[in-house]
Amino acid sequence: MPKVLIVGGAGYIGSHTNKLFSHSGFKTVVFDNLSTGYRRLARWGEFFKGDLANAADLARCFKKHRFDSVMHFSAFAYVGESVTDPAKYYVNNVANTINLLNAMRAAGVNKFIFSSSCAVYGAPASLPMRETLPFNPVSPYGRTKKMVEEILADYSAAYGLKYAALRYFNAAGADPDGETGEVHNPETHLIPLVLDAAAGLRKEIKVFGGNYPTPDGTCVRDYIHVADLAQAHLRALRYLGKGGASGGFNLGNGKGFSVLEVIKTAEDVTGRKIRVKMAPRRPGDPPALVGSAARARRILGWRPVRFKLETIIADAWKWHLKRSQAPF
Ligand code: UDP
Repeated sequence: MPKVLIVGGAGYIGSHTNKLFSHSGFKTVVFDNLSTGYRRLARWGEFFKGDLANAADLARCFKKHRFDSVMHFSAFAYVGESVTDPAKYYVNNVANTINLLNAMRAAGVNKFIFSSSCAVYGAPASLPMRETLPFNPVSPYGRTKKMVEEILADYSAAYGLKYAALRYFNAAGADPDGETGEVHNPETHLIPLVLDAAAGLRKEIKVFGGNYPTPDGTCVRDYIHVADLAQAHLRALRYLGKGGASGGFNLGNGKGFSVLEVIKTAEDVTGRKIRVKMAPRRPGDPPALVGSAARARRILGWRPVRFKLETIIADAWKWHLKRSQAPF
C-alpha cells in the first residue's frame, strides 16, 4: 500500500482528505502540531505529533516511515490576520514549508500536493478565473501561497520534485457522513457563521459591504465542497504517479453566490430565520471570485459532485448540529 504523509491532517480540509485516502487504498500518516487542528479529527491512519518548524520532528517522522508522497495542508489562512501579523504567515506558510520540502529531499520523496489558493490571483478584472491569469496577490496570505508556488517550480526544475498546487476557491461543507467538518477558533468564515445565526448561537450575521459592483451589492464567491476538494487530491496524486507534468490547478464550481444568496439558501436549508445586519466592507475582500476548473477537469478528470449550494450548506448544517451536541 502506498504511504502518504498528510501534514495538517487534523485540520478542516486535511481531515477530509485523510478519510478519503485511507478509504482508497493508502496508508496515511497525519503530521500535525495541533496548534489549530484537533486530534479527534485525525481519526484515520496513524498520527505523528510534530512541528514543521522543528527539523528534528520532520527527520524523525521521515525516518520512521517510508512515504511515497506528501500533502501539505498546514498553513494559516486568515487574510486579515496576515495583514496585521505578516511574520506569523511568512514563517509558517513559507519558511516551514521549505523545511518540509527539504525533509522530503533528504528522504528521497518527490511527489507533493500543495494546498494553494485563489488568493494568488488577487482581485482579477474578469471572471471566471483561469490558471493563465498572472499571480497578483493583494494580501500577505496570498503572497505566501504565491511564494511557495514559485519555490515548488524551482525545486521541480532543479531537484525533480513532482507537484500539484491546488488553488482552492471557498472551501465549505462537511463530510456527508458527519465524521469530520469545519472547526475554526475563532471562526471567520461565512457559512459556519451563518449557521451559528440560524442555530441561535449568535444573534445575527453581519454582511461585510452592500455596495460592491455585484448584482445585489454583496461579495460573490465560488463555494466548493470539501469532499470534492479531497477527491481532487486523489486525482492529482494519481496524475503525478502516471508521470503528469507539475503545475497549478484551480478548484471551484465555476458558479458564484453572493453573501445574501448564501444566507437565503441557509434559511431554506435550515428552516430558520436568519437576522442580517449590513456592516462596512472587510478590508482586502475582492468583489467577486469565481474560478474556472476546466483545467482540472481536462487534465485530472476531476468533477465536483456535491456542487449545489443547498448540498454544501445541508452537509455543513448536519455537522453544525452534531458539533453543538458535543462541542470541541
Ligand atoms: N462575510 C460576511 N460576513 C461574515 C463573514 C464573511 O459578509 O461574517 C463575507 C466576506 O466578506 C466574503 C464572503 O463572506 O465576501 C466569504 O468570506 P469567508 O471569510 O467565508 O471566505 P474568504 O472569501 O475570505 O476566503
